Amino acid sequence: MTERRATSDERLDGVFIDVYVSDEVANDPELARRLEEVCPVDIFRAADGKVVTVAENLDECVLCELCLEEVPAGGVVVKKLYDGTELRRS
Ligand code: SF4
Repeated sequence: MTERRATSDERLDGVFIDVYVSDEVANDPELARRLEEVCPVDIFRAADGKVVTVAENLDECVLCELCLEEVPAGGVVVKKLYDGTELRRS
């Protein structure tokens, strides 16, 4: 396996998946804790009471929708960059 290092002009963010987190959710310590707990592939991390998304894990998303269940409608949106659709709770 070839090891890759990020260079200044190369991003290691998700190629296939992006995750949007609203400000309301991102600044809620309890929701940060629950998102960190629920995501099976560690896309969310609670850091100083805020939600942080882990860029290098984005493409591991299994589209389980567990994160959507934890937050108010629209608080988290999983964007499937490969087909332009998204998962959100209505
Ligand atoms: S859909 Fe599932 S795997 Fe994807 S970010 Fe949400 S909890 Fe994580």
